[in-house]
Amino acid sequence: MYCQSNDELLELVNEARKVAKDGKVADYIPALGKANPGDLAVAIHYPDGTCLSAGDIERKITLQSISKVISLALVLMDRGYEHVFHHVGMEPTGDPFNSIAKLETMDVAKPLNPMINAGALAVTHLIIGSNVAERLQRLLKFIQTMAGNPDIGYCQEVAQSEFETAFLNRALCYFLKEHGIIKEDVEQLLDLYTKQCAIEMNCLDLARIGLVFAMDGVDPDSKAQVIPKDVARICKTFMVTCGMYNASGEFAIKIGIPAKSGVSGGIMGAVPRKFGIGVFGPALDEKGNSIAGIKFLEQLSRNYSLSMF
Ligand code: GLN
Repeated sequence: MYCQSNDELLELVNEARKVAKDGKVADYIPALGKANPGDLAVAIHYPDGTCLSAGDIERKITLQSISKVISLALVLMDRGYEHVFHHVGMEPTGDPFNSIAKLETMDVAKPLNPMINAGALAVTHLIIGSNVAERLQRLLKFIQTMAGNPDIGYCQEVAQSEFETAFLNRALCYFLKEHGIIKEDVEQLLDLYTKQCAIEMNCLDLARIGLVFAMDGVDPDSKAQVIPKDVARICKTFMVTCGMYNASGEFAIKIGIPAKSGVSGGIMGAVPRKFGIGVFGPALDEKGNSIAGIKFLEQLSRNYSLSMF
């Protein structure tokens, strides 16, 4: 039996919130620095439509790196397996998400996986459309379908703030362009990538998206296959091996569910064939994951034996 009531969830939230003071809000994207480090919001979405939530659930978060797993799904659908994995690899790095180090030491200069920034930039490059607006619109439409919410958009302030300060991501792009992994104009790709990362929603929407991945790509209401089963499987595998940056191994051992985090403090979880989870707690640990969010998931996984291993 899984968590049954908002009160049960609230108890876990109140306990986990205590560690938020040991974390730090990301401010390398200046607009993210405005978040309140003490916030914590969680939601669980079940296939029967039940949605539980607790904490500061009115807050909206930008997806940041969580968007990487969704853009990967779209691009796999757009371009197919062979094409995508010609541009990006499948191996975890053990390095921080924005590291440039491995690119130069590999024989073929392709990013090791789609969850690090270099790999995500290569993936976003593959989103089909005739201009940035059209490509963003396609991604937004896909996200709206998965969340069951046609009002989801992106936060202009956060997108702009990252665009103005993304010097490292620009460097990654130029490296990838030098090696033929990306072919488009770097400023154009960054425009799309920063808007993708700034796509904004609450933790209930996030849990609904997690549920679609958890249900092998099937929309729980319409029963439509919105992501092919094989694509959902690939995405969940990346969530396990690389979804929590260079803390993915520890997360797999302690929590054991496919999950993807972002520097905004969001975490999307997909408990296979059971439920989707959305978490938002902006204070981060030293590896860039929501410190209270991890604490919450640890307790949730322990209480309800959620580890898939
Ligand atoms: N937009 C962020 C960046 O590229 C995403 C990183 C993250 O969430 N870890 O730096």
